[in-house]
Amino acid sequence: KTWNQTGLPSKILDTIKKLNYEKPMSIQAQALPIIMNGRDCIGVAKTGSGKTLAFVLPMLRHIKDQQPVVPGDGPIGLIMAPTRELVQQIHSDIKKFAKVLNVNCVPVYGGSGVAQQISELKRGAEIVVCTPGRMIDILCTSSGKITNLRRVTYLVLDEADRMFDMGFEPQITRIVQNTRPDRQTVLFSATFPRQVEILARKVLSKPVEIQV
Ligand code: AMP
Repeated sequence: KTWNQTGLPSKILDTIKKLNYEKPMSIQAQALPIIMNGRDCIGVAKTGSGKTLAFVLPMLRHIKDQQPVVPGDGPIGLIMAPTRELVQQIHSDIKKFAKVLNVNCVPVYGGSGVAQQISELKRGAEIVVCTPGRMIDILCTSSGKITNLRRVTYLVLDEADRMFDMGFEPQITRIVQNTRPDRQTVLFSATFPRQVEILARKVLSKPVEIQV
């Protein structure tokens, strides 16, 4: 399977070539057609499998042709991840594409000052990558004045099993309830225990399951 067969827009393909990613990794080859078809997807895959681009590339395509953001616009793509390190990692992967596509991505995580994150969110962004706890703090303290989730039509839960182990389920549920009901949702998890399956059933609609 080649990148050209994925149907991704040429600006994305050009960047992939510059990064020297020769061909899609297995999880990407499996997930891209499903997600690009608009289906919800559960991917059981570990770090190192290439899972990040499997959900980031279709998200970039989903967002690319929308109007530029104006201050006050909430994200269209929302990614939740368990830790600050993972949020930073995903953000840095997105940044490699963000410039040529002219999309803005704001990372939101705990354990560091909130002021910078708030001012970036206020400017408006197409994508937010967050830990659930800090995101809830920001949504609650401002009653929707800093950002809002009314435009979220592409939602990702990354490392869902770890978020569950860290006790983030109530925050995840609250965040999901504030996104659009007609959104597309993608869930990645290294393992797929029963609690994650229950969460997935609540949050995803008729998902296709894949595994590497
Ligand atoms: P991840 O599992 O998403 O953390 O990705 C693991 C690593 O693989 C990251 O450093 C990516 O930059 C890299 N990577 C992702 N997709 C590809 C690809 N198709 N070919 C080569 N490397 C890749």
